[in-house]
Amino acid sequence: MSKVELSGVWKIYDKNVEAVRDVNLAIDSGEFVVLVGPSGCGKSTTLRMIAGLETVSRGQISIGDRVVNDVAPKDRNIAMVFQNYALYPHMTVEKNIAFALKIAGMPKDEIAKRVARTSSILGLDALLKRKPGALSGGQRQRVALGRAIARDPAVYLFDEPLSNLDAKLRVSMRSELKALHQRLGTTTVYVTHDQEEAMTLGSRLVVMAESEVQQIGTPLEVYQHPVNRFVAGFVGSPTMNFIPGRIESGLFRAKAGSFQLPVPASALAGEQATGEIVLGFRPQAVVAGESSPGAFEAKVELTEPLGDQVDLRLDIGAGETIGARMPMTSIPSAGQTMRVAIKPEDVMLFEPGEFGRRLGAPKPASKIKAG
Ligand code: ADP
Repeated sequence: MSKVELSGVWKIYDKNVEAVRDVNLAIDSGEFVVLVGPSGCGKSTTLRMIAGLETVSRGQISIGDRVVNDVAPKDRNIAMVFQNYALYPHMTVEKNIAFALKIAGMPKDEIAKRVARTSSILGLDALLKRKPGALSGGQRQRVALGRAIARDPAVYLFDEPLSNLDAKLRVSMRSELKALHQRLGTTTVYVTHDQEEAMTLGSRLVVMAESEVQQIGTPLEVYQHPVNRFVAGFVGSPTMNFIPGRIESGLFRAKAGSFQLPVPASALAGEQATGEIVLGFRPQAVVAGESSPGAFEAKVELTEPLGDQVDLRLDIGAGETIGARMPMTSIPSAGQTMRVAIKPEDVMLFEPGEFGRRLGAPKPASKIKAG
């Protein structure tokens, strides 16, 4: 187990493509940290720099107490698991797991011990003599994990390891990975574009967008206290509602239509909101209620039952719609009108723009430029 530290790390490709900008991240020994963000935001490049598969353009990466910028991947004491797990098709499961150990010159009896331990951890005993062609997708991915575990590295690096599996298998492998981490306690850095996977697996999330870290925090911190509109919209499902408008005399008025809402003091977080502002609230914050203060009329456009809950699309006037998630009981059908309210404690306010800061969140330091 080792800590991993990135300080002021940049990756600049040819033609000045800034794939990763000034990443600062301290991962404690034994942590499970997930780099999450939309495609192209720089998460794989960050992971590949930790692995040593990409050079670092600026800044420093250390694993344990050693700066590894110039250390070859094989000498970093890491094991990486990719989306394309590329098992050797002509080798049995046992040989696949043993291969890297053999190449590293490990004695035969030690290899046998490691393979046996790995196999028992992952429940592969019955499959050891099979070749990859005779395994299911999930079993193959488990063998790929086995190859990493057998090496007993200081750090695991995962790059979208579950993306090739079908939805059901992905969820069960996710649980296996989490249980495995709880058992082995090895420092893990995991890359995914899937916010749900990130939330369920990570002890901390590093939310990235446009080559930069937007926020680092526990899943709950990131969900409850997003630093900006991007993070608020990216994390959580269904996605947060955003309504642009202005605040006048304590009342939020939507830019389009007639929607208005008394602004809860908690949303202002002690700040002044002058000029354009964006109101944000999660679909789960919308409640059906006649008597709640600030309740308003909405027309049900669409209902999507989920079992115990239902997702609604509500028309709140002048073409403005919001998403709501409510308990399944007594929901009107499409076309009907209902009175709803927004839980005041769940209302957030954002400065305008895709990366508009949430009121109450720290003000970002001025941007550092490369060069
Ligand atoms: P993610 O893993 O978040 O999808 P990547 O780290 O793969 O994103 O890529 C980040 C950015 O760097 C993207 O804009 C991508 O096009 C660019 N990029 C990745 N690899 C290279 C490369 N070898 N040369 C030039 N640009 C690259």
